Amino acid sequence: MSYRVTLIPGDGVGPEVVEAAKICIEASGVEIIWEEKLLGAQAQEKLGSLIPEETLASIRKNKLALKGPVTTPVGKGFRSVNVGLRKALDLYANVRPAKSLGACNSKYDNVDIVVVRENTEDLYAGIEFDFNDPFASFLIDKINKGNIGKLSENTAISFKTISKKASERIIRFAFEYAIQNKRKKLACVHKANILKFTDGLFLSIFYEIAKDYKEIEAQDYIVDNLSMQLVLRPYNFDVLVLPNLYGDIISDLCAGLIGGLGLAPGANIGQTIAVFEPVHGSAPKYTGKNKVNPAATILSAALLLKHLQENEAARKIEQAVKDVIKENKSVTYDLKLNRDDPSSVGTLEMAEAIADKIKSY
Ligand code: NAD
Repeated sequence: MSYRVTLIPGDGVGPEVVEAAKICIEASGVEIIWEEKLLGAQAQEKLGSLIPEETLASIRKNKLALKGPVTTPVGKGFRSVNVGLRKALDLYANVRPAKSLGACNSKYDNVDIVVVRENTEDLYAGIEFDFNDPFASFLIDKINKGNIGKLSENTAISFKTISKKASERIIRFAFEYAIQNKRKKLACVHKANILKFTDGLFLSIFYEIAKDYKEIEAQDYIVDNLSMQLVLRPYNFDVLVLPNLYGDIISDLCAGLIGGLGLAPGANIGQTIAVFEPVHGSAPKYTGKNKVNPAATILSAALLLKHLQENEAARKIEQAVKDVIKENKSVTYDLKLNRDDPSSVGTLEMAEAIADKIKSY
């Protein structure tokens, strides 16, 4: 049986890590017909749109995509197409597991945390006004005259939005995920002491929904405290559910606990569509250098196979990644104790070592 899956190589190191994942899926014996599509600056150049309709149509049709990272200009230029894609397809749940793989550069063993991040709203809603935007001046005037607050002129404004609907569905998703994956605890992460309405709403919905899932221990942490606790005692944490921005930051922190962004896979899940991609970005300085760790994208491909119920193939890929990392021979620079270690290999060589292992099981 073969599957049809949309493939978005992305840019920066994207095409290299996506190729690595393709090699490993092929080695697992699962047959995939890839439908390659563009996204981001390349798509703008070739098709006149950052998120082309044909890319969306392909994902909607196949209901599945494997995606490499796509660059977003910092502080200027176009808005993130990664965020745009998740919104366009209503991929409301971003699942980012951080599981120890025996990497020698990792500070901890036996970390096993899953971040469930709300993917459609919060400060990522994309409602922003520059300091000199007339609408910002209008809002500032209303706020100052209404004694709601005291804002300076020339203040840039971003909206943080947390809705009941989006909070309910991500929190329910997280509890269901915890049950299906035989997890014990779910912690809601927030800053409701300060953000009483937005994060306060998220937190109150969490405890409301928790009543339906008595078998899962429901906890909550203020995000700053959680950051410290994760570094001190990562073993205390199981599944975390967070609004969008905290979810993004905390999943990078969790990647750091297991040895870095090169090891952290991710899935963006909606009602019927799922897009799999590593947590990391396009690492532009390494573009075309055959340098970065392909494991995060290979593990994202394994999550895609699990989604297709190809559990044995997914298990082999995960095992092969672990074995190659443990041997510490055919691994990229980031998995060496000394990052300048001349024995480190390139992206492709590490992928081939993983593929050879997969075939050997
Ligand atoms: P980044 O994840 O690209 O890089 C952060 C650090 O991690 C860098 O030092 C990088 O070299 C390292 N790193 C990243 N991936 C690695 C890998 N596979 N192996 C080894 N080391 C790795 O984050 P950034 O520098 O903040 O962002 C670069 C660009 O990527 C930005 O344009 C950003 O918007 C974009 N980005 C895209 C996505 C996505 O497509 N989903 C996610 C995050 C960032």
